[in-house]
Order: sequence, then structure tokens, then C-alpha cells
Amino acid sequence: MELGIRGKKALVCGASKGLGRGCATSLAREGCELTIVGRTAATIEAAARELQALGGSKVTPVAADITTAQGRAAALAACPQPDIVVTNAGGPPPGDFRKFSRDDWIRALDANMLTPIELIKSTVDGMIARRFGRIINITSSAVKAPIDILALSNGARSGLTGFVAGVSRSVVKHNVTINNMLPGVFDTDRIRSNFEFSAKARSMSVEAVRAERLGQLPAGRFGNPDEFGELCAFLCSAQAGYITGQNMLIDGGTYPGTF
Ligand code: NAP
Repeated sequence: MELGIRGKKALVCGASKGLGRGCATSLAREGCELTIVGRTAATIEAAARELQALGGSKVTPVAADITTAQGRAAALAACPQPDIVVTNAGGPPPGDFRKFSRDDWIRALDANMLTPIELIKSTVDGMIARRFGRIINITSSAVKAPIDILALSNGARSGLTGFVAGVSRSVVKHNVTINNMLPGVFDTDRIRSNFEFSAKARSMSVEAVRAERLGQLPAGRFGNPDEFGELCAFLCSAQAGYITGQNMLIDGGTYPGTF
């Protein structure tokens, strides 16, 4: 299926590895011109070289912390008029909610709620003027089914979800859509560090925690960042202009609800 986004300018945050990298990979294959962001210069530059080899279109790496005003300014200087924006940053740390301070909460809100809102604010009017825009926020299945050790994520991402529910309806008439993608358990560095936290807290081995989690998944496997990327590319496609304000679970059937 031709997705109709060849030559579109895409800004993908948190794209050197994991789910953001999956999104960048699929958008590169569709011929988008990419600007990719990550904090570590060596890994984001290596990712840019590998992505460039895939699609042939231009890939610009930006080494910046997207949760800071300076980092967002650097990303937008490299890609001033994006047609596609994928917001993403590392998730907040796991832990017991009793131990989180006000500063921990402010950091989580900054990274997982206010940063996507700032990026939407900076890019949506240009998209409206050009009559094409696709914004994807990588959130979490925790928005629908909270995860006990991830109180910071459960809270901060729900705030973003409420904001997107409102604003997405106000821009869709201009062919600008805003959707959230909610990953279940994907095989990335982030999930490995969550397993390490649980293993320590429960005096178990990481392998035992991993096997236990695997046994709870209806699909019997973890998700692969490439399949996450393919859904992202479809939601960014020309054909997806009638899909907005949605919270797309991609979790191999793990969420147990009927609706
Ligand atoms: P990951 O494998 O750790 O990758 C995170 C990527 O984001 C890396 O490229 C990292 O590079 C970059 N990054 C992190 N913080 C950044 C920042 N402040 N500014 C710019 N780039 C930043 O994580 P992931 O598993 O792909 O997770 C992506 C998001 O989905 C996270 O918010 C995570 O909580 C959420 N999520 C993941 C899962 C899962 O199963 N994997 C499930 C639910 C939710 P640098 O470190 O070099 O910056």
C-alpha cells in the first residue's frame, strides 16, 4: 500500500532506538525526509546513517534533550515546518509512589505531558496552513490500564491524553490529525530496565521476571518496534485523515477489556 507521504518532512523524537526508531524506520521506508532526535550524539548519528541507507531520503540527526526548551528549539531549527511529528521521550522511572517528590512529578509532567504539548503548539498552525499534518504521541497502555510501579507515567500521560482529546477535534477539518499510540510490552531497553527494577524489588532474577511477564501476554511474545513503526506510518498516511483523537493500543491483546 502506497501511503502517500513520500517527501513529507517528519520530526521523530527519541529515535535512536526502541519505539521511536521503529517509527523512524517505517517513515524512512515510505520516503519521508527525516529529522531524528536523541540525547546521545553518537547513537543518534549512527541511527541517521542507518536510516538514510534504508529510504534514500535525507535524514538529519539532532543530539538534544527534547524535554528542554533548548532541545526543542534545536529540533525545530533543523525541521522548521514538519508535516509529521512523533513525540517521544524516555518514560519516567518506576518506583513506589510514596517516594516520589514534587520534583519527580514535575520532571515526569515535563517529559511526558508538557513536551508533547509544546511540540504540538509549535507545529500545528503550520500544518493547518499547509492543509496536511499528522501528529503521533507515543504514550503507554498505562493510560488505559495503569501499571502499579509506574505512577508517574500513569498520571503524566493521562494529562496529555485529555489535552489531545480536546485539541485533536479542533484541527481535523484542516486535514491535521493527532493520535496517541499506546504500546503494551515491547522488547526495548526501556522494558529491560523496568524488568531490572521489578527483579530487584522482588528479589528475583531478571530472567524470572521476564519469563513471568511473557507468560501473562496473550500473544506469548513481546512486541517488536518494527511493527509499532508500521502502525505509526499508517496513522501518518494520506489515507488516515479521518482518524483523529484516538488512543491506539498495540499490545497483542493484553488489555483485557471489551471496549
Ligand atoms: P528506549 O528503548 O529506552 O528508547 C528511548 C529513545 O528515546 C532513545 O532513542 C533515547 O535516546 C531517546 N530519548 C530518551 N529520552 C530523551 C530525551 N529527553 N530527549 C530526546 N531523546 C530521548 O524506550 P522505548 O521502549 O522505545 O520507549 C519509548 C516510550 O514509550 C517511553 O516513553 C516509554 O516509557 C514508552 N513505553 C514503552 C513501552 C515498551 O514496552 N517499550 C511500553 C509502554 C510505554 P537517548 O537516551 O540517547 O536520548
